[in-house]
Amino acid sequence: MNFSNVSTICPYCGCGCGMILQTIDQEIINTLPSKSNPINEGKLCIKGWNVHDFVVSSQRATQPLIRKDGDLKEVSWNEVLEYVAKELMRIKDQYGPDSIAFMSSAKCTNEENFLFQKLARAVVGTNNVDHCARL
Ligand code: SF4
Repeated sequence: MNFSNVSTICPYCGCGCGMILQTIDQEIINTLPSKSNPINEGKLCIKGWNVHDFVVSSQRATQPLIRKDGDLKEVSWNEVLEYVAKELMRIKDQYGPDSIAFMSSAKCTNEENFLFQKLARAVVGTNNVDHCARL
């Protein structure tokens, strides 16, 4: 059995709390707050304390899904991207660009968030862009 403590940053929001993931044989089993991190100084919110749960959750989506005839069906990335692009353009044409909102994530890099707002503003034509870190 190989036990280890891995120092990392919480992926849930933009605060960037430091945490330690405890692993056994490379499987994450627990989360602890980092006392030496100047952001959180040994504290975590309830999301941070449970960060290890989602990694191995059976409810985690591992493939794109599209609802067909009332049921979610696994589809390829090409199919889902084509579907999303067509639907965004259909909604934009029918209701205007401000009928669409773009919600990004603190888990993305600054560069990914920059590209995301470019897609919203330059391609779709809306300033409706927000982010989960604005708690
Ligand atoms: S979700 Fe909670 S623990 Fe994670 S970075 Fe934000 S405040 Fe810190």
